[in-house]
Amino acid sequence: MGLLSQGSPLNWTETRKYADHVRKHGILQFLNIYNKVKDRQKDVLKWGDEVEYMLVQLDKKNEKACLVLNGNKLLETLQEKGENVNPNHPTLWRPEYGSYMIEGTPGQPYGETLSEFNTVEDNMGKRRKEASSVLNKDETLCTITSFPRLGCPGFTKPEYRPAPVEKGVSRSLFFPDQAINKHPRFSTITRNVFHRRGERVVINVPIFKDKNTPTPFVETFPEDDGGAVRAALPDHIYMDASGFGMGNCCLQVTFQACNIGEARYLYDQLATFCPIMMALSAASPFYRGYVSDIDCRWGVNSASADDRTREERGLEPLKNNKFRIHKSRFDSIDSYLSFFGDKYNDIELTKDDDIYSQLLDAGIDRLLAQHIAHLFIRDPLSLFEETLHLDDEDETEHFENLQSTNWQTMRFKPPHPNTDMGWRVEFRPMEVQLTDFENAAYVVFVVLLTRVILSYKLDFLIPLSKVDENIKVAQKRNAVQEDLFYFRRDIFKGCTPSFDSTAAQNGVGTNEDHEEYTLMSIDTIINGKEGVFPGIVPILNCYLENMEVDVKTRCTILNYLKLIKKRASGELMTMARWMREFVAKHPEYKKDSVITDKINYDLLSKCDRIAKGEEQCPELIGDPASTTRP
Ligand code: ADP
Ligand code: MG
Ligand code: MG
Repeated sequence: MGLLSQGSPLNWTETRKYADHVRKHGILQFLNIYNKVKDRQKDVLKWGDEVEYMLVQLDKKNEKACLVLNGNKLLETLQEKGENVNPNHPTLWRPEYGSYMIEGTPGQPYGETLSEFNTVEDNMGKRRKEASSVLNKDETLCTITSFPRLGCPGFTKPEYRPAPVEKGVSRSLFFPDQAINKHPRFSTITRNVFHRRGERVVINVPIFKDKNTPTPFVETFPEDDGGAVRAALPDHIYMDASGFGMGNCCLQVTFQACNIGEARYLYDQLATFCPIMMALSAASPFYRGYVSDIDCRWGVNSASADDRTREERGLEPLKNNKFRIHKSRFDSIDSYLSFFGDKYNDIELTKDDDIYSQLLDAGIDRLLAQHIAHLFIRDPLSLFEETLHLDDEDETEHFENLQSTNWQTMRFKPPHPNTDMGWRVEFRPMEVQLTDFENAAYVVFVVLLTRVILSYKLDFLIPLSKVDENIKVAQKRNAVQEDLFYFRRDIFKGCTPSFDSTAAQNGVGTNEDHEEYTLMSIDTIINGKEGVFPGIVPILNCYLENMEVDVKTRCTILNYLKLIKKRASGELMTMARWMREFVAKHPEYKKDSVITDKINYDLLSKCDRIAKGEEQCPELIGDPASTTRP
């Protein structure tokens, strides 16, 4: 979840007063970082994954699965047993938004040797075992993206009733404040999203219309003060709290590049893969106890963090606000960062013009300046009294404050000065998978992708507006099988990246080429199609053939690529599709789009057995003999 300051949180009225102060010093801090590290060269490839987990109780007697609001205690225990006593401990644990959530990463980032690919799944396994070993007998740690009955009566343990009251944090009809992590950052962000926006967040997800689903599907909300009935759309599942999005789990990967130019190049290239990997990792078809018509969490998260006012959303003329803002602060990126990407920047970019000029005057180039000036159109969402006044030479907290509350598909991360960290980019669109095998496969696939992008100087850039169209398509039900995505045809003929920025600035053509991209299926993109596209997996195989890899690692990687290949071709199901089929076949399912407690319990119990390797699931994961699991 990024930056975690401790202290006394300011309320919204005070936070707003300091918004310009935070922006002003945030920019000074960015400039100080930039000037210190802009010429850093030859950093080695390092990378690491982040996996988010939910703490679930499987109550056998009552056949009910609940989220256990004990993440903080679990975190404390794991840190006490791990990193606090051993600086080389193989795992690190961090808090996450839900008080039923926790995030795990490897103890150290991985390096550039390919044999490390063989340790990723093992490390994920260690995390799962380590956490499981300190849980109560009926509790388990699940890697599921969205809890199917999140926000349904009694979905937490202990049970709390939501309190849609004046002094509440979310004021939700469904999501009790106790399900938000007690760390003040999380409730402060939630509260300030509410206050800044001026009303509860509104999340409407289309319901999946089954044979017996009422038409129109319209709910009544007994405790509603009038807000829900106004906000809820017919034929949609309505949700009203940040927890419905920020309380979902995901899978992220961060890469360190050799210098800033390479980081900017990777940021742009990987941005084109966000929708593709989103669709391939689709794992969240159920919301608030209903079967929805979408497969991915992204839009839900986006709406759940949408702090824009009515003016900013274009519903009222601008009067008190400065900008009309097209997207939530949790959304896809709005500009490419490298000079190669410049000509494909075709989205209207809202930026703070004063900050933009200040950055240009300070010697920052146009593309980086507009990126930062775009992030800085936002207000801080949490601010602590103790850290208002900082030494801009040495501290970066105000910069990080805005940086870490722009939850975009990609994040460009400057080094922390005075550390050995280099320029990094974070890949953020993926949904978390059920097993360590799958999570390792997706992570390794993306890491390999960065290797071929850099080694073969591949170019996947298409107009950013087309990437945005792909993001919308990626979330549709069964998009992997049924939809087409804009993708670049010739990925070899593009630019020849030289990361010397002056050469790069001069070497860019501006001709519009309508033949550059076309619509392709994910199968074509990943597996290739004769005469149309070579396919990512064949390119990765070619790369691997030319690398020295030990047999064991090679075998592991092949199994990972096989999973991705088969998910892309449809031979294996996505998690979302598999969950849908499980529910559809459940004896208690009445074809009315309702996930009952019993269905939820059976689904999560099955998920748990598969994740622990106690049960096979060939339709989701493939031939068990070919996995690397023991
Ligand atoms: P976030 O702000 O997204 O929570 P973190 O700082 O927690 O990011 O780190 C995310 C990931 O970055 C972890 O998997 C970690 O292993 C990895 N990581 C740490 N140091 C580096 C580095 N120098 N280069 C690349 N990745 C790193
Ligand atoms: Mg993290
Ligand atoms: Mg992260």
